[in-house]
Amino acid sequence: MQNLTSYVQGRWHAGSGASVTLFNPTTEEALAQASSAGIDFKGVLEHGRAKGGPALRSMNYAQRGTMLDALSKAIHAHRDELIELSIQNAGTPRSDAKFDIDGAIGTLAFYGRLGQELGARTFLYDGPGVQLGRTARFWGEHVLVARPGVAVHINAFNFPAWNMMEKAACALLAGTPVVEKPGTPTALVAWRIAQLCIGCGALPEGAFQFIAGSVGDLLDHMGPQDSLAFTGSSGTAARLRGHANLVRHNVRVNFEADSLNAAVLAPDVEAGSDTFNLFVANVALDMTQKSGQKCTAVRRVFVPKERVEELTAEIVATANAVKLGDPSDAVVRMGPLASADQLRDVRAGIERLAKHARLATGGAGAIRERGYFVAPTVLVAADGRNPAFHAEEVFGPCAAILPYSGDAHEAAELVALGGGSLVTSVYSNEQTFLETAGLAIGAWSGRVWLGSDKMAEQSLAPGMVLPQMIHGGPGRAGGGEELGGLRGLSFYLQRVALQGFKGVIAPESMCVSKSAAPTA
Ligand code: NAP
Repeated sequence: MQNLTSYVQGRWHAGSGASVTLFNPTTEEALAQASSAGIDFKGVLEHGRAKGGPALRSMNYAQRGTMLDALSKAIHAHRDELIELSIQNAGTPRSDAKFDIDGAIGTLAFYGRLGQELGARTFLYDGPGVQLGRTARFWGEHVLVARPGVAVHINAFNFPAWNMMEKAACALLAGTPVVEKPGTPTALVAWRIAQLCIGCGALPEGAFQFIAGSVGDLLDHMGPQDSLAFTGSSGTAARLRGHANLVRHNVRVNFEADSLNAAVLAPDVEAGSDTFNLFVANVALDMTQKSGQKCTAVRRVFVPKERVEELTAEIVATANAVKLGDPSDAVVRMGPLASADQLRDVRAGIERLAKHARLATGGAGAIRERGYFVAPTVLVAADGRNPAFHAEEVFGPCAAILPYSGDAHEAAELVALGGGSLVTSVYSNEQTFLETAGLAIGAWSGRVWLGSDKMAEQSLAPGMVLPQMIHGGPGRAGGGEELGGLRGLSFYLQRVALQGFKGVIAPESMCVSKSAAPTA
């Protein structure tokens, strides 16, 4: 059995004492164990601050961009091996494993390019400067400078590669050393990626530390220049948000939590049209890709009430056409849930929701003798406002079809009942519907994805997070924000209002950098 080690204070550390076992969710065989016992967590932060931070800050943006590019290439060189590990430890079919691993590779390459484009500068201007005096001699600029702290990243189990590297890419490009802690049940892929990143030699010592297992008392030692970026359930987010030491030092925090994402079908969308087909395909994809264990997966499907039966039949048929089984089989498109805990939670969640709805397909029952499998499950509610469907995220292959009147204002109101989402998709070919629903939903959803015949052929599914666009959402979704090009760096940088002589604050030689500055 593989022993997952942690990379801390410049060496690989094998945890002693009690460990957590990682399983193959298809066969239920034990694969690996992880323990962080014996790590000096205070020392981990000090190491990052003393070694990693100064080394990163001595590099300019272009050099850090080159470093990210090297990490991207190091991971890419082992892509097949990582896909195999993902199949084993996360139960993902090859296509889902690629989704995660290529996401990590692509995001690193994207930020690598951004860094190279920023060139030799070591700080960024934020927006245009302002004249503060009678003449332009007294001038003001907002600039973003690196902070001498460490970024602690606590990640969810569902994207062991992407989740770790999308956070690391932004922090490292900003000049901030990272401590990465993956979700333990699927940590095998993250651990191998950490080995590749450390081994490739592109990172200065202390820039990247990795913890397999619990973070121990790490958060107790964080200080005012450190930052915590968390992805996971809203329950854990709530616990961490109130952590006494984080509160005491006003440690900067970003939370990406769970989300009751929605899809809205407008009444104008005709059966068989490109938009209709896209709607059905995207809902079914969200239910089955990664067995529904995607933070962006649609959980609430709003359909005009007179079309509920028609749409239910289409979605059930499309979801059930997805081949479910052992993810190492090339024809399989949907594997098991990632862990026994997940199986227990998803089954319990389906049972709770099924009390309020008709089961159109699937359900909580066992479908195979071995492995943590759950069938694609479609529930149909009689009342789109039933609070049960706006309160609980079932983090598996489960979605509820909820009727609404077909009015764009009502659709937005129902989406808002979820308390804040990562992404909402709206399907219509009517500008007025898209505009009305889109703008009203915008306050409740970090991303609004507008589907229509005009973009159907070229669109990427709403569940796909792109490094160019922000990821995060208000309220229940955590209230955080990641990625979005250079906006993703702001969390790790200090925005400073500089006031003084324009020739000092915004000299001609710096003008080029202003055009590349974040506008956030
Ligand atoms: P989780 O149980 O909340 O765990 C998330 C991370 O927090 C894991 O690394 C976990 O470590 C760690 N953790 C748990 N308790 C902790 C504590 N007291 N102190 C410090 N760390 C702690 O969530 P999950 O089951 O891994 O992930 C599924 C959830 O994540 C879903 O609700 C999903 O919606 C959400 N998610 C959100 C996004 C987003 O971007 N908004 C993305 C992906 C997933 P261990 O694994 O070692 O317990």
